[in-house]
Amino acid sequence: MANSAADSRSNRAAVQATNDDAAASKLSCVKKGYMKDDYIHLFVRRPVRRSPIINRGYFARWAALRKLLYQFLDCEGCNGEKGHTKKQILSLGAGFDTTYFQLQDEGKAPYLYVELDFKEVTSKKASLIESCSQLRDKVGATASISLENGEVLSDQYKLLPVDLRDIQKLDDIISLANMDPGLPTFIIAECVLIYLDPDSSRSIVGWASKTFSTAIFFLYEQIHPDDAFGQQMIRNLESRGCALLGIYATPTLLAKEKLFLDQGWQVSESCCLGHAESL
Ligand code: SAH
Repeated sequence: MANSAADSRSNRAAVQATNDDAAASKLSCVKKGYMKDDYIHLFVRRPVRRSPIINRGYFARWAALRKLLYQFLDCEGCNGEKGHTKKQILSLGAGFDTTYFQLQDEGKAPYLYVELDFKEVTSKKASLIESCSQLRDKVGATASISLENGEVLSDQYKLLPVDLRDIQKLDDIISLANMDPGLPTFIIAECVLIYLDPDSSRSIVGWASKTFSTAIFFLYEQIHPDDAFGQQMIRNLESRGCALLGIYATPTLLAKEKLFLDQGWQVSESCCLGHAESL
């Protein structure tokens, strides 16, 4: 589907707003004790209480990512001593995710952490990082922050604006961020690719496999558009202007696995975390 046609069912502002919902839901979880995140409250203007099923869904999402991230970060590599292997994390459509700040507190932040999102979102995040000392301290005193460009550039952390559908730009962004395609890289796409047209998602998955020689791609997103839960979820999201444009091309776990294998990934594994995902 051409981007213009897709945009009419899935508009940019509405898709960006799903980030505000994710942040509010994470804060709801934190307040109920499901998980610890000392930063997410800085990104939420209007706290809300989510229902237990939503809190549990977010907990599962958080716990799954944590488990794999820690495995990646703690892995010593073939010959490196513990903590000596340089590693990178690339978060696509990072929104207001606070994983970088948490990993800093835990002493686990990798050599380089790069976050990408639309400029509207990175500008807001850059502005919050600039104004909140808890966040600013974590990106380092020498970080350069540009609200106009929606950028934060420090040695260890980079926040950059890009439309992920613009594959050509991704290469420029990676070199601008000083990413080394040869280093072990953990790529995160949490509830992001599903909002893109299937051709764009496919290109991103293929681009990542070609670009990074040793990488893990963590994809978390909705499946099963045709059961009762899926139909309701799709109606809810479409009524807000954010269609799940990718869900029919990869409606099942098997289809998601195949997407990766077709795009050059050597191994592809998936599991279902339940039906609590609403956004
Ligand atoms: N990954 C974060 C945010 C999820 S919300 C989390 O799990 O909390 C989806 C995010 O993807 C939004 O911030 C939205 O702006 C971003 N996004 C969607 N399409 C994008 C695109 N084409 N280019 C860049 N970012 C995009």
